[in-house]
Amino acid sequence: MADIIQLLPDHVANQIAAGEVVQRPASVVKELLENAIDARATIIKLVVKDGGRTLIQVIDNGTGMSHTDARFCFERHATSKITSADDLFQINTKGFRGEALASIAAIAHVELNTREGQAELGTAIKIEGGTVASQEFTAVPEGTSISVKHLFFNIPARRNFLKSQQVELRHITDEFHRVALAHPDIEFHFFHNGSELFHLPPASLKKRIVGIFGGKTKEKLVPVEEETEVVKLHGFICKPEYAKKSRGEQYFFVNNRYIKSPYLHHAVVSAFEGLLRADTHPGYFLYLEVDPSSIDVNIHPTKTEIKFDDEHTIYAILRSAIKHSLGQFNIAPVLDFDQ
Ligand code: ADP
Ligand code: MG
Repeated sequence: MADIIQLLPDHVANQIAAGEVVQRPASVVKELLENAIDARATIIKLVVKDGGRTLIQVIDNGTGMSHTDARFCFERHATSKITSADDLFQINTKGFRGEALASIAAIAHVELNTREGQAELGTAIKIEGGTVASQEFTAVPEGTSISVKHLFFNIPARRNFLKSQQVELRHITDEFHRVALAHPDIEFHFFHNGSELFHLPPASLKKRIVGIFGGKTKEKLVPVEEETEVVKLHGFICKPEYAKKSRGEQYFFVNNRYIKSPYLHHAVVSAFEGLLRADTHPGYFLYLEVDPSSIDVNIHPTKTEIKFDDEHTIYAILRSAIKHSLGQFNIAPVLDFDQ
């Protein structure tokens, strides 16, 4: 029998990986915003056109990249964030898989402008169809700007699967909220079709929540705080009378990463027991800090699910901290919890 196994060419492998990493425009937004944060940006601007179909651009004032790195960042498994498997258990950055830019460049047209602080000239690169169309030295601001155009240009099935501009914009806005909530200390701008939807200056967590969800949110929030050996917890829950029919504002962050956790959600809901009207869902903004070696973030390509070593203890601590906050609120509902 003849040997029939071949290694897939890079551009095919990247396109396959992109299927997992980039489900829709919002996935691109998430990856680019996270890269800007990892680059220690203090001001991040998101510019979107047509629900992300024609343009998604993220401009940051972070570290920028060298001329070589500006090319290299589009290679698969190219990352500056980890160097060994051991590092997987000490993750302090959003990224570490080195997959996002390679995946995005395989299914869209990408333009990167970047300059490191000390460099006189920066770099401009254009990638089309996974290959470099041009690369030159050029005068650009310090930091990085990445534009992603014509998403899924070479995957008609994915392109056709895209929903209306409003639906895609809603997904993008959800991603934007998560990132902006995870980093109240960073300034964000968000433009869609030329109008500014959000301008969020650096703020306390409470001000950031209000900046996103509006002034009325302020009176809904009850602070939660707890510190144990296993987990440090802070954030806010919404008073039970503001619980909604639809699942609205429910956010968990672990080490500043937005995550989904049905198990921890259950801990929150069970702390509200007896306080909610039927079929309503409490809002919450809860931030957990744990030792990075006690969690595994590498169980899903989008990293929105993580595994805790000691899930049961965290459940119990979370539940009791929320009960405590609710108790305080019930006893003294008129106290001002301003922080
Ligand atoms: P990862 O974030 O997992 O490392 P990416 O494909 O998202 O993988 O990015 C690859 C590399 O490109 C990053 O490790 C980083 O060194 C560099 N990079 C990407 N975006 C930026 C940015 N906005 N500013 C500076 N460097 C960046
Ligand atoms: Mg990344």
